[in-house]
Amino acid sequence: MKIHEYQAKRILAERGVPVPRGSLATTPDEAEQAARDLGGRAVIKAQVHAGGRGRAGGVKLVDTSEEARAAADAMLGSRLVTPQTGAGGVPVRSVLVEEIIEVERELYVGMVIDGAALGAVVMASDAGGMDIEEVAEQTPERILRAPVDPMLGFLPYQGRTLAYQLNLAGGLVRQAGTIIERLYAVFDENDCSLAEINPLVVTRDGRLLAVDAKLDVDDDALFRRAGIAELRDEEQEDPLEVAARQYDINYVKLDGSIGCIVNGAGLAMATMDVIAAAGTSPANFLDIGGGADEEKTAASLSLVLKDPSVAIVFVNIFGGILRCDVAARGFVLTAEREPDAMRPMVVRMLGANAEEGRQILVESGLDVTLVDDLNQAAEAIKATGA
Ligand code: GDP
Ligand code: MN
Repeated sequence: MKIHEYQAKRILAERGVPVPRGSLATTPDEAEQAARDLGGRAVIKAQVHAGGRGRAGGVKLVDTSEEARAAADAMLGSRLVTPQTGAGGVPVRSVLVEEIIEVERELYVGMVIDGAALGAVVMASDAGGMDIEEVAEQTPERILRAPVDPMLGFLPYQGRTLAYQLNLAGGLVRQAGTIIERLYAVFDENDCSLAEINPLVVTRDGRLLAVDAKLDVDDDALFRRAGIAELRDEEQEDPLEVAARQYDINYVKLDGSIGCIVNGAGLAMATMDVIAAAGTSPANFLDIGGGADEEKTAASLSLVLKDPSVAIVFVNIFGGILRCDVAARGFVLTAEREPDAMRPMVVRMLGANAEEGRQILVESGLDVTLVDDLNQAAEAIKATGA
């Protein structure tokens, strides 16, 4: 789950990470007042669950409180499109009004859970401010890494070493080390999958400040992080992903045209590979989950069909706890409820009650192509031209 920059900064500030002075505004009036409190000059930052705002017009420097009002007026209620959002962008409901920082250098510090490293990896770079993915791709040597031992945690010397390697002036090395340590504490305490400060600014007057901050929290940890869970802003999320959560379906919206319905996360991953092998791409990842019943299966199909980019639906069910006949009845239920939403389906069913399931689909009169294995599935998907 993502949270807003202002929320992340509040959490960091509570942990002693220095952040710029400022406040949140949800109306042009509030923005004007907030800028006035800062002496007029301010930076107005759209609060959206996406980075890349700087280049997309979501970060504006203003000289007066009147300009702050105008900038907030333009942003509030609009949709911001950045390289990290879809073409439709995300709504701006609030702006952060902060003091303008005189920037000497922009650094990057961050941390993620790295599956390959079997734990957290803390990173730092002197190439802050920009898209860190781009830095990683083009100049990977500019990203310093420190793996975290899960038993020992992040050790103070690791923070100091990273800070030292950033070529900071004497007094700032210790400060930067402390900031990295505190960022790690926030990451650890909140079950984050990602925590980053980008940029961590060295100001002209020789201070360090977190000018931008981002925290992503592991969805599976939210049950024990009530304080974080209540920061959820569904308006910033994909509406289909929000609907999926209500049904407890694991759904991730993707860019392709083949809707996927699969039981089991591993099988769902393999299914997406098959779709890629057929020369096209999946419209979503979807794992119905093990204990699904007819209703949940029906909800899965209904959800996939709500995505207008879905041309055909590929169903890949290995019947186990979810038996194939139950899944088939679920699909028929959806077809009865919303016949106009239906699209052609390619269906592979194996395992418990597979024959019964296939029979139900054949008799339903739905536009279904039954396949026996994944090669056939790829061929059938190819044949549709979707
Ligand atoms: P992002 O583009 O969504 O990551 O938004 P950021 O908060 O990182 O802002 C983008 C860029 O705007 C930063 O890298 C800075 O260069 C610039 N910026 C943001 N706030 C300030 C500020 O207070 N002073 C100055 N000089 N630049 C700022
Ligand atoms: Mn940033």
